Amino acid sequence: MSSNTNKNADGLGTETLLTHHGRAPEDQFGFVNTPVYRGSTVLFKTLADLEAQSQPYLYGRAGNPTTTSVEALITKLEGAHATRLVPSGLSSITIALLACVEAGDEILVTDSAYEPTRKFSDGILQRFGVSVRYYDPRIGGAISELIGDRTKAVFCESPGSGTFEIQDLPAIAAAAHAAGARVVVDNSWATPLYYQPLALGADIVVHAGTKMFVGHSDAFAGTISTTEECWPDVERVRGLLGFYTSGDEAFLVARGLRTLSIRMEAHCTRAVELAGWLEGQDEVLRVLHPALPSHPDHALWRRDFTGSGSLFGIILKPAPRAALAAFLDDLQLFSMGFSWGGYESLCVPFKTGSARTAVPWEEQGTLLRLHIGFEDLDDLKSDLTAAIDRYRKIRLE
Ligand SMILES: *Cc1c(COP(=O)(O)O)cnc(C)c1O
Repeated sequence: MSSNTNKNADGLGTETLLTHHGRAPEDQFGFVNTPVYRGSTVLFKTLADLEAQSQPYLYGRAGNPTTTSVEALITKLEGAHATRLVPSGLSSITIALLACVEAGDEILVTDSAYEPTRKFSDGILQRFGVSVRYYDPRIGGAISELIGDRTKAVFCESPGSGTFEIQDLPAIAAAAHAAGARVVVDNSWATPLYYQPLALGADIVVHAGTKMFVGHSDAFAGTISTTEECWPDVERVRGLLGFYTSGDEAFLVARGLRTLSIRMEAHCTRAVELAGWLEGQDEVLRVLHPALPSHPDHALWRRDFTGSGSLFGIILKPAPRAALAAFLDDLQLFSMGFSWGGYESLCVPFKTGSARTAVPWEEQGTLLRLHIGFEDLDDLKSDLTAAIDRYRKIRLE
């Protein structure tokens, strides 16, 4: 891992920011947390006030003190010019991409992207005259060969959802900027605590705040943080599309963020331990976790990241569906469900098939995606050991 002083521009450590930034008890009668502001209408006292539009808040759709407090904190963590809280991770992606293109333009999207990112690109952007091409997540600087006059954005997700390739962001950003294209990075896995895309050359960073920021599987949120140059485009598109986040959701994001550092540390060490242990288990062909030395992008991960997320993949020996069902159906602690980032461990089968077009997924075997929560590690290992035994039994039948 690269040396990370964990100090931001103010000279304050990340943990201090997470604890103190983005709240002002003196404005809230001394109460520690910014309360939930609920509201659409914001009142003006005089015609002159209404005409001046200089109040901090004019209408609730553009934000309220609860959303602002979260945005201020994320801006610091990402080292960004500004941040917007939006209703979901997916909306942070759609807004970011729409902020970069118009009809006739082209975007390049990593083949490893979260599937709804692809569906939006194919289903909406293409319909409005934006071409979309997918590229090998491991392309690095060679992406310059794909970038043309019409290319306005390169979308990265590092590591990729489900397949966990690490991207060479500095090389991709250098190639994109040389051609005047912007770089958008989905940073949901590592969070700004362990990966700083803007410092590595990205222009826009998006998050599924639903995952690690909220941290308790009980709210939806997304964030978009940008450089000064991109901000007006992002803010214009968000405003025109009418995306709004309620004070209730924002409060849950703020609450999650206060403990993000200690949660990430626990997720990181537990996931690495389980991933390493799984590598030694019979039936497991490969573990896809960039912090393991066996991972093909381990060196890149060490260079650019200072920690790892809760999520990784495993590939089990090829077996009939019944073996997979036996593995999953009787799990006692790992639950099956989409999303991730909560305190509970999850395990889902991951289909890559049709979702890859640039580099076909050629790995044989059953791909599973695991999110490691806060249960006792020995209990989690026992749960997986029993599942692996059930899988083997049916595979060998
Ligand atoms: C879940 C997820 C999203 C989308 O977040 P939602 O809040 O569910 O819309 C985006 N990117 C990644 C990598 C995700 O895992």
